[in-house]
Amino acid sequence: MAKERTLSIIKPDATRRKLTDKINARFTARGLKIVAQKPMQLSRTQAEGFYDVHKERPFFGSLVAFMISGPVVVQVLEGDNAVALNREIMGATDPSKAAPGTIRKDFAESIEANSVHGSDSTETAKREIAFFFPEL
Ligand code: GDP
Repeated sequence: MAKERTLSIIKPDATRRKLTDKINARFTARGLKIVAQKPMQLSRTQAEGFYDVHKERPFFGSLVAFMISGPVVVQVLEGDNAVALNREIMGATDPSKAAPGTIRKDFAESIEANSVHGSDSTETAKREIAFFFPEL
């Protein structure tokens, strides 16, 4: 399997409840290595830029407001098949549809405040990693 990198964000609902260590333990237990990590308070411009692909969606304004409502932790995860593996560890976007044992099933508050972001393809991962970690 190919070694990949993916962009992860621990979202404000999770940092507010001090879940960062518990969430990171889910990644490392499944073989993903945290190769870069930084706590940040996103500006509106950064959140709008990051979620630009969703700007026509009805929830865009609410999503941006949520993402700047508190600190986040942005991180790069690395491992075999990291993009798909992280999506599996995260679970479905809507926690009511997420599989048992996934981060979103166990921790998410709602379809919006769903604790984590993970890149959805290797192409997206490259763009998203460059967005937050241009030095990598
Ligand atoms: P993801 O790849 O699983 O994160 O899902 P998407 O790319 O479809 O959506 C991006 C983010 O927008 C999600 O993680 C949620 O935080 C939020 N989101 C998605 N769908 C909805 C929705 O129907 N309503 C609201 N309020 N937020 C949503």
